Amino acid sequence: MSGTVVRVGRLFDGRDGAVRDRAELRIEAGRVTEVGDHGTLQRPGDELIERLDATCTPGFLDIHTHFCYPIHGDFQRPTSTPGRLAMLAQGFAQASSWLQQGVTAARDVGTSFDLDIELAELLAAGSVAGPRLAPAGRMLTMTGGKRNAFDHMKDEVSGAVAARRWTREHLKRGAVVIKLYCTTLLEEDVAGYLRRALAAPEGARDPGRWASLSVDEIRAVTHEAHKLGRTVAAHTAPAFGVNLALRGGVDTVEHGSDLDDESIALFLETGATLVPTLSVSHHQIAQEDGGRADPVFREFSLRRWDRIQRNVARAHEAGVRLATGTDPVIPGMEYRSEIELLVACGLSPSAALLAATRDAAASLGVFGNDLGTLEPGKHADLLLFGADPTADIGAIRDLREVWQGGRPVPKPVDPTGVIQLEASHA
Ligand SMILES: [Zn+2]
Repeated sequence: MSGTVVRVGRLFDGRDGAVRDRAELRIEAGRVTEVGDHGTLQRPGDELIERLDATCTPGFLDIHTHFCYPIHGDFQRPTSTPGRLAMLAQGFAQASSWLQQGVTAARDVGTSFDLDIELAELLAAGSVAGPRLAPAGRMLTMTGGKRNAFDHMKDEVSGAVAARRWTREHLKRGAVVIKLYCTTLLEEDVAGYLRRALAAPEGARDPGRWASLSVDEIRAVTHEAHKLGRTVAAHTAPAFGVNLALRGGVDTVEHGSDLDDESIALFLETGATLVPTLSVSHHQIAQEDGGRADPVFREFSLRRWDRIQRNVARAHEAGVRLATGTDPVIPGMEYRSEIELLVACGLSPSAALLAATRDAAASLGVFGNDLGTLEPGKHADLLLFGADPTADIGAIRDLREVWQGGRPVPKPVDPTGVIQLEASHA
């Protein structure tokens, strides 16, 4: 069978953070078959693609998306469920936009109607353009708690038996990842709570004001998911919630804006991954009013941002695995800033690129097995940059070509993704 040889100036294969000069990849049936030096892999009948000025990396992974999320304003208020068609249109547009930014695989951590499960099927069939998608469908949380804008995206359970049953059923529906909404603030007066939190010592949050799944409920979920090689993502911000989720055996912690010594120890002990979702926090504070009329939200966001950056640096120094996830629920967000923000937190460009590739894939269970690095057997999902991003992370803005499954992804004539994202907030 003939293949394709892609000959590049430099190759970051994602295995260890190193870059090799004058490398080439041989691709057959959508997968990498060999990696070698210039002029060593071409066989009779193979097509040769020469990109001698380019640096090649694996395709990026965004492991915290909500492609079908109806982008709107205040998350703390209950809202009516948006229309199914509007959400699917958003899903198509955002999936296409993310692929153009180099995201060749993603994990969708929650949407209404299990729409991301349907979207993942369309993407896998090639009916629409976008990343390979590991969907979570609806999220799971405890029965009760405060109503908020996420209500239409969640199911509720009480007790480990119910959690086990829900997990089995949800995996059967096609969820590749389980998303747990581990903690949620019960306070109706959020501004008042934030005012008190700002006056309290750093990181101190009153667990009594938070509702959460219990550790036995979380363990029941992780046990069932792991039996099938699937993984569990836990939404939680306060340190007690992070520690609870890690004791329950989750694979990734989403947000985790507060970490204490125990959190770091539990990450290292369990091998779980921190997905700090820097983009959404940064985007929030970059907006003039933090997206809110009340200045207390802005003050809280600014202080929290400072703490998040310190926690990411601390976790990385301690050896906790980090992965890129954007949580794109605010209009105007993009993927690339997540990698740049990891560098701003103190990671080297190579370490940030590993968080976007190898380490993101490592937390996805069997779904991630063929992703994240360029080595024999893996999907030939690759990116070609005009300069070396390990030397200057700014080079990720100079993305020349995106390849998925051994073929270049066409550039859209009409960048529908961008238009949709802006229009949806007008
Ligand atoms: Zn999210």
